[in-house]
Amino acid sequence: MEYPQESFVNTTFTPGSFWARRREIVRAQTLRHQLEMLKKTGRYEAFKLEWHPSYSDPPTVYPVPNHQFWDSDVAKWIEGACYLLTDHFDAEIDEAVQELVRMIQGAQQGDGYLNIHYSVVEPGKRFTNLRDMHELYNAGHLIEAALAHHHFYKNDKMLAPILKYVDLLSRTFGSSESQIPGYPGHPEIELALLRLYKVTQDPKHLQLARFFIEERGNPHGGKEKRHFYDVEREARGESEHDLPMCYPAARSYWYQQAHTPIINQETIEGHSVRAMYLLTAVADMIRISDPSPDAASELGSKYLLALHRLWSNMIEKKSYVTGGIGAMKKWEGFGIDYFLPHGTDEGGCYAETCAAIGVMMLAERLLQIELKSEYADIMELCLYNAVLTGMSLDGKAFTYVNQLASSDEDLSQRHEWFECACCPPNVTRTLGFLGGYVWSQRIKESEKAASATAIVNVHLYTSATLRLETKGCKSGTIQIIQKTDWPWNGDVDFNISAEDSESESDAELELELRLRIPGWASGSWEITPRPNKITIHDGYLYLDKNWIREHPKFRFSCPMQARIVRPHPLTMQRVAYITRGPIVYCVEDIDHPWEQDHFKRIVFDPKAALQEEKRSDPDAYVAIIAEKAALGQLDTSAWDGKIVAGGEGGGKDTLIGESRDLCFIPYYLRANRGGRGQMRVGLRVL
Ligand SMILES: [Zn+2]
Repeated sequence: MEYPQESFVNTTFTPGSFWARRREIVRAQTLRHQLEMLKKTGRYEAFKLEWHPSYSDPPTVYPVPNHQFWDSDVAKWIEGACYLLTDHFDAEIDEAVQELVRMIQGAQQGDGYLNIHYSVVEPGKRFTNLRDMHELYNAGHLIEAALAHHHFYKNDKMLAPILKYVDLLSRTFGSSESQIPGYPGHPEIELALLRLYKVTQDPKHLQLARFFIEERGNPHGGKEKRHFYDVEREARGESEHDLPMCYPAARSYWYQQAHTPIINQETIEGHSVRAMYLLTAVADMIRISDPSPDAASELGSKYLLALHRLWSNMIEKKSYVTGGIGAMKKWEGFGIDYFLPHGTDEGGCYAETCAAIGVMMLAERLLQIELKSEYADIMELCLYNAVLTGMSLDGKAFTYVNQLASSDEDLSQRHEWFECACCPPNVTRTLGFLGGYVWSQRIKESEKAASATAIVNVHLYTSATLRLETKGCKSGTIQIIQKTDWPWNGDVDFNISAEDSESESDAELELELRLRIPGWASGSWEITPRPNKITIHDGYLYLDKNWIREHPKFRFSCPMQARIVRPHPLTMQRVAYITRGPIVYCVEDIDHPWEQDHFKRIVFDPKAALQEEKRSDPDAYVAIIAEKAALGQLDTSAWDGKIVAGGEGGGKDTLIGESRDLCFIPYYLRANRGGRGQMRVGLRVL
């Protein structure tokens, strides 16, 4: 079992390539910019446990204090910094990490407790509001930061205090008489504890994670045999009608995926980041407790079935063309099936950057349980569209919400930071360990002693090199090089070699390779030279070791061309999107200075000729020019002064104005070239 947060070190992105350049910007610009923001806002020094004036601010999202997440903002930055330091040591960043770790050590209480808010603002009230407060969420991010710190620095300066804190949590939470039978309102600590367990092999860590997951939503929990959040609320002296701002009604525990135990949940509900972090942990729990789960195994029959059900509901009925999830602003999460409005003045669209990062995390865990291209397709879709769009080209401005259409209330634009700053450092850490998402690997032991085969699954295509030390294999060190101009060109040249690490001579390749066939390329992909027998399982092309030995250099091609795609008819939206390979496109006002109404009245001709245009400013990309594709503007004068119009024949769509060309650019590139912030992904078709 492996985690991308560890395996990423085996991957080197080829200098100058798509992801190498993005990661270089994150390393050189984003880390520094975010460090500056941590300092400017008071987060950097918050672990000194001194009062900060903002602690008196009324909460923007009642009842959660605005500074509640500060621990996690710092932790995510440390985590991202540790991944990026692995590539390139940077004294200034290193010094800041070390100083933060010293402050974290200093903030720990004698019994191990470690949290800014409950040490400074509400001492004595720790663990009294798991439903709303982010104590355990923060603890989870501190664990993840400590693991990244330990991985890079090879010391226990951060891990030791965090282990002491986890010991306290293990004593505090559980099902015995003296313990709190509760679980966090915002999942995160579960997946962090499972990662921690891999390093420590301490059964307490696995046990606590399993308790939080398995107890969640139990209507008969604890000694009172009631829902924990009811018991906890009454203990605080609150009425069930004293609603958190995100709740539309009393006891809306679906907001936290705690309305019923996970194994009984039929549809994906509530806050989308919480849902993704929780299900990622569920996938991990299955993988750790039952290395080859299936529907017949104990955990598989309960939790794997639930994962399949919730994943399918999300992907088939509650996600956007960009991979973004969450239509509802009020609870930052899922709406009803097929309710997927594109922008604020159409009824919503949230698609938080962190949620898309969560989808990638979940997809990666599911891929490790079952190698199916449908998971990797979504992982790639989210990466290039819903995640990458969260950061500007210069790495210093971010989005939290990623709508598919702008409006006067919500223009398409980025900000240097947010009061609740979860997304910016989340992008940083994700790009930090991105190499771990490109491929996964394991060693298959053979019955014959001293013989083993390396298996590498290629999920993403990009110019990069994987170096794999294969203990127990004759291959020594296997090197796999991908060379490609993905996502603009679908030709990928593979070059595979093996080196005996002792003699530094060539070794015999003991490698099986599995290549993901992207869903959008099905039927049009090619491999050269072509194997006599093509073996495909669940969307992956299997190349056996004999073929690889004979053809260590080969080309895999997935022709990329602009496609018109449409949303499910039950969304009741007659719009068309343009995609090309993994990239989703949008239109922006800067290319269409005549546009005044966020492209709402444009009627698009899906049969228009689409011309590709390679551009290099502000970055290299392929634009798509749709000739005379804007057939004109919809004439709405028949509705002037009324909400319905028609009559005999039902009324007609009338167009006014001339046909115009439309210029589509990748959605992730939006809001990088100036303009008025008008943007749209899906255009009306008749
Ligand atoms: Zn976020």
